[in-house]
Amino acid sequence: MNLYNTKSRTIELFTPLTEGVVTMYACGPTVYDYTHIGHMRKYIGDDILRRTLTLEGYNVKHVMNITDVGHLTDDGDEGEDKLEKGAKKEGRSVWDIAAFYTDYFHDTMAAVNVLPPIIEAKATDHIKEMIALAEKLLAEGIAYETAHAIYFDVAKDPHYGELSGQKLSDKETAVRDDVVIDPDKKNPADFSLWFKRVGKFADHSMYWPSPWGDGFPGWHIECSAMAMHYLGETIDIHTGGIDHIPVHHENEIAQSECATHKQFVRYWVHHDFLNVEGEKMSKSKQNFYTINDITARQIDPLATRLLFMQTSYRKPLNFTWEGLEVAGQQLKKLQKFAAHHTQQGTVHDSYMAAFTVGLADDLNTAKALATVWELLGDNTIAEADKWATLLRFDAVLGLGLDAVEKFTISPEAQTLLDARNTARTNKDFAQSDELRRQLEGLGYEVLDTADGTKLY
Ligand code: AMP
Ligand code: ZN
Repeated sequence: MNLYNTKSRTIELFTPLTEGVVTMYACGPTVYDYTHIGHMRKYIGDDILRRTLTLEGYNVKHVMNITDVGHLTDDGDEGEDKLEKGAKKEGRSVWDIAAFYTDYFHDTMAAVNVLPPIIEAKATDHIKEMIALAEKLLAEGIAYETAHAIYFDVAKDPHYGELSGQKLSDKETAVRDDVVIDPDKKNPADFSLWFKRVGKFADHSMYWPSPWGDGFPGWHIECSAMAMHYLGETIDIHTGGIDHIPVHHENEIAQSECATHKQFVRYWVHHDFLNVEGEKMSKSKQNFYTINDITARQIDPLATRLLFMQTSYRKPLNFTWEGLEVAGQQLKKLQKFAAHHTQQGTVHDSYMAAFTVGLADDLNTAKALATVWELLGDNTIAEADKWATLLRFDAVLGLGLDAVEKFTISPEAQTLLDARNTARTNKDFAQSDELRRQLEGLGYEVLDTADGTKLY
């Protein structure tokens, strides 16, 4: 399979480090507010990638974190901890906030058939690993301690900035808030591995003991420590939104590679944004919709999967309700097909090949979807074979077509249908039309085919 690697800026042939196994780390949500449709695009994107690799025969070790501490309102080290801010706003404890929004995230993911990661790692459960990594960087002489924090010294890392292609000299050098707060910070681009519970963080409610006193970890070190803890020092795939490229992932590479002297990630996969009127859908802009807004409009949340698959994960996608409604109609069509088919024939090789070739082309989901519609419209293929093939596609589409309730005719409708068949045999068309109206009134679609009348 071919995958675009942000690091090399090219589409590369994907081969894992260990044959047959893919190690994949996905940056997870910061659980201080509702999961929105923008997040869904990212996690459905991860899910499609994982399901595609599984279809290709790989055993995918998928790890995702839950950020429940240390992510400040600015992706750099400025501002407040998002969880603390959320807790203050809602008058609840940070632990309550984290638990509530983690549950909401899980519910949202379950509603759109995103497979749970093999391991879901909460930042607050891995403080020991984060402290150990910070200690290693201090021992390497690449981190330093001030009265406020332990910082990573970016000037000591000759490769810093390679992921985003930014030179250190291009980075903002104006005096920033955090430099004023900590006059001992050497460079504005230095980032915190550990925040001490002093100064602006003196009242921070989540804190742990460390060799440097009480405090809490920085957001970036969380992902490095948890990824390496579960997947090893070099991992195959690391995913995130494009907003993570210039700071979060740059910092993850710096910390990990300076500590291990090994390549941290082999393929960097970044998802582009879901926008609303040209702007990123985000919690901070309050321009977001959640799964509740989708169900309130009587749209099946699974329609989001079809909507997102129409556009490459590497392109921005403008969200509109009209677009989601169209995807909802398409989903209904597939569900209807599923409801009417029980007998599975043989998977159709050339359609299966076309589907996988699309996905193997840097996850060209639009191409894969086009194959779905072509298959359904192909009258040369037996219905049972179509159904078998569609079910195989659904291993990646994730629409839960195998779980769709099978179509049944109620006894009342069966009586009407029998009466209509008799009327048609007797050429009593007025009666036949009347019975059709009654069947339609019960919600059935009435199709007169060469094999007799069929209800849908
Ligand atoms: P956060 O909870 O803000 O850390 O975001 C979790 C993940 O969702 C990150 O990988 C973000 O890049 C991604 N994300 C946030 N908003 C959007 C959006 N509007 N479109 C796509 N991905 C997003
Ligand atoms: Zn991360």
